[in-house]
Amino acid sequence: MNPPSQSGIPNRCTLVNILGTSVKPGERHVLDLQVARLYTRTSVEIPVVVQRGVEEGPVLLLLAGVHGDEVNGIDTVRRVLDELRERPLVQGTLVAIPVLNVFGFLAMKRELPDGRDLNRFFPGAANGSLASRLAHALVTEVLPAVDVVIDLHSGADQRYNHPHLRYTELDAASLRIAEIFDPPLILPSPIRQRSIRAHMNQQGRSYVLFEGGKARSIDEDSIREAHRGITRVMEHLGLWSGNSDTTRGASYLTGSKWVRSPMAGLFHPIMEGGSKVEKGMVLGLVADPYGDQRKHVKAPFTGQIIGVNTSPVVNQGDALFHLGLM
Ligand SMILES: [Zn+2]
Repeated sequence: MNPPSQSGIPNRCTLVNILGTSVKPGERHVLDLQVARLYTRTSVEIPVVVQRGVEEGPVLLLLAGVHGDEVNGIDTVRRVLDELRERPLVQGTLVAIPVLNVFGFLAMKRELPDGRDLNRFFPGAANGSLASRLAHALVTEVLPAVDVVIDLHSGADQRYNHPHLRYTELDAASLRIAEIFDPPLILPSPIRQRSIRAHMNQQGRSYVLFEGGKARSIDEDSIREAHRGITRVMEHLGLWSGNSDTTRGASYLTGSKWVRSPMAGLFHPIMEGGSKVEKGMVLGLVADPYGDQRKHVKAPFTGQIIGVNTSPVVNQGDALFHLGLM
C-alpha cells in the first residue's frame, strides 16, 4: 500500500500506467479499451480519457454508461471533461470513461447485445462472454491504476431516482467520499457479488455509485447534483484547486424498502422523490379504469422517498415508491 496523500486517500500516482501507456505529469491521452470484434467485422473500442496533473496525487475514475441507456451520467462526465479545458488539473490523475457499454449506448439499452447486465460479470474473464470480456478488460487494464471510482447511474426505465449516492456498507473510505460529495441523500449499499463495487472493495479501493434521474432521459437536477459532487471530490483530492462550496449536509439513510401496488390500475404518484414522509401518509393512488375501485398507497414507515415509479399503469405488487429508512 502506498502512503496516504494529504487527502487521506492512498495514491499510486508516481507511475500512472493505463492500457499499457505510461502517462507522464501534465499529459493527456485518449486511449482505447479494445473489447471485441462484431459480426460486421467492426472492432469495438471504448475511449478512455486520461489527464494527469503536474503534481502527484490520487487517481480518480469517473465511470458512466455501464448501463447504456443511462444518459445522465454520460452527460455529467462530458461536462467535467469540457470544464477541464478551462480548469487544468493540479495534482493527481483523472481517468474518464463516459460510455463503458458502447453497445447499449448505440441501441439505447441497459444491457449488452446478448442481454447481459455488465455489472454482474466482474471481474470477468479473458475468454468469457462479451460482458465478461468487457469486465475483464476494465479490471486488468484500467482499475489497477485507480484509487477512487465514482460510478454514475440513473433509475431503470420508468423509475425516477432522486439524486443520491450509495457507498459500500461498512467501508469507511467510501463513506468519506460520499460525505465530501454531499448529495441530497446518502445510502449504504451491500456488496452484490460480481459487481464493480465487489471488485473494488476486494482490492481495498474506494467506490461510490451516484444515482439520479431515469434511463433514456436527461434530468438537469441530477446532472447538476452529480457535477457538484464530483467537483467537490476533485477539489478535496487536490485534482482541482479551490475551496468547495458550503456543505449542505446530506440526509443519511440506513436502508430502504419498496412500497408495492395494492392493485392493478392507473397510477398517480402524489409525493415526489426527496420528500420526507410520515408513517401512514398517502404517497399515491391506484385506480381501475372503470371508476369502480381505487386505493391509496400509504407509507409503511416514516422515511424519505428515494425513487418513484413513473409508469402510468401498474400491476398488483409492482414497486411504486423506493422509501429510505431514516
Ligand atoms: Zn445503472
